[in-house]
Amino acid sequence: MTFQAPKGTFDWLPPRSERALAVREAMSAPARLAGYGYIETPTFEDTALFARGVGESTDIVSKEMYTFEDKGGRSITLRPEGTAPVVRAVLQHGLHNGRLPVKLWYSGNNFRYERAQKGRYRHFSQVGVEALGAEDPALDAEVILLAVDGYAALGLTGVRLLLNTLGCKECRPAYRAALQGFLRGLDLDDATRQRAELNPLRVLDDKRPEVQAQLAGAPLVTDHLCGACKAYHEEVRALLTAAGVSHTDDPRLVRGLDYYTRTTFEFVHGGLGSQSAVGGGGRYDGLSEMIGGPALPGVGWAIGVDRTVLAMEAEGLFGEEEPPGPVQVYGVPLGEDARRRLFLLLTELRRAGVAADMAFGGRGLKGALKGADRSGASYAVILGERDLAEGSAQVKDLASGEQIAVPLAEIVTTLKERLTT
Ligand code: ATP
Ligand code: MG
Repeated sequence: MTFQAPKGTFDWLPPRSERALAVREAMSAPARLAGYGYIETPTFEDTALFARGVGESTDIVSKEMYTFEDKGGRSITLRPEGTAPVVRAVLQHGLHNGRLPVKLWYSGNNFRYERAQKGRYRHFSQVGVEALGAEDPALDAEVILLAVDGYAALGLTGVRLLLNTLGCKECRPAYRAALQGFLRGLDLDDATRQRAELNPLRVLDDKRPEVQAQLAGAPLVTDHLCGACKAYHEEVRALLTAAGVSHTDDPRLVRGLDYYTRTTFEFVHGGLGSQSAVGGGGRYDGLSEMIGGPALPGVGWAIGVDRTVLAMEAEGLFGEEEPPGPVQVYGVPLGEDARRRLFLLLTELRRAGVAADMAFGGRGLKGALKGADRSGASYAVILGERDLAEGSAQVKDLASGEQIAVPLAEIVTTLKERLTT
């Protein structure tokens, strides 16, 4: 019997897996340049952290969490998102008592029991940034720019920034009440009605067309902002515009998580069908208090690694051919003594920074040369008993077929030279 990866999960295999690495690398590079330090939190946390931090009325907490009791009787949940764990770690280690803002970035996997489809998985990866301890529109703009620059470095041109503000504890209550009044007049199912009472903003995030159709005339948060929120939002927009970042105002944009305040944004891409969000984030000034900490404002985002790769593929950024083979030089030993010598030579090559592999398993010349071709290497180093006796090896240019004898002592320098010119 053989096993399959569980429903809603998949394996990243080479060479395509290089694309996921490239996304992690490019999306985190701007953050590292802006003083964000790397944080790694556990893959599981106390269930209560997410229940309180993400919010009971969210899809994540109400139906998507992988929760179980461990052998010690604790309720454990596999991480469905990265922000609550980061804030938990900041509070636990008192990072907020040092220099502010605390700037952190992470890269990790998440688990949500979702309806599995293209771009929506039960196990997926994110890269994220969080900046805590400052309420400053320049920080919101910085965080957004980090993602914009990351997407640009990947060569993506079809990512659009949707921007909104959700107000604050001064102005949100009045808006919430107005929205609730509106929602009570709609034809909604019981679960959605209940949600409208608990967290009416979340109803705006309902993806079903029959619900969206009824929301056309819903009151907009932007018509209910207090002066401070209005000014804050204007400043974020002005800073983004000054930095050359175009955005679309989307007054209906809310996030799937409860803890957001003020700046809210999403990055969407047209090449992904209905799973259009490649990243999202915003300001979450209430989160720390929700999980028992002091007032600690924060802003951040998480981008979906899997969907970002899909977006890049949709833009044809990887071309038709697969990424280049992982090695530059391929060794072909003919005989036992040659294998021992070639093994050392490969070690030398690798230590000199040349990617090298060799034929294993005692294959003959023909099979080994086939392996050399498949490896994507530019050169084969063929070592037979006679070469060995003469203290040299055959260096074969696999593109032209040209083959020359090179003294063993000069192989590394010769190949390094040829590979760099
Ligand atoms: P969506 O509206 O598509 O469900 P979300 O609002 O739940 O997204 P966030 O929790 O903000 O998403 O996560 C940030 C990013 O992580 C998303 O923009 C997306 O790119 C990615 N993401 C979220 N859920 C999944 C999933 N189930 N599979 C793959 N990627 C995901
Ligand atoms: Mg979701």
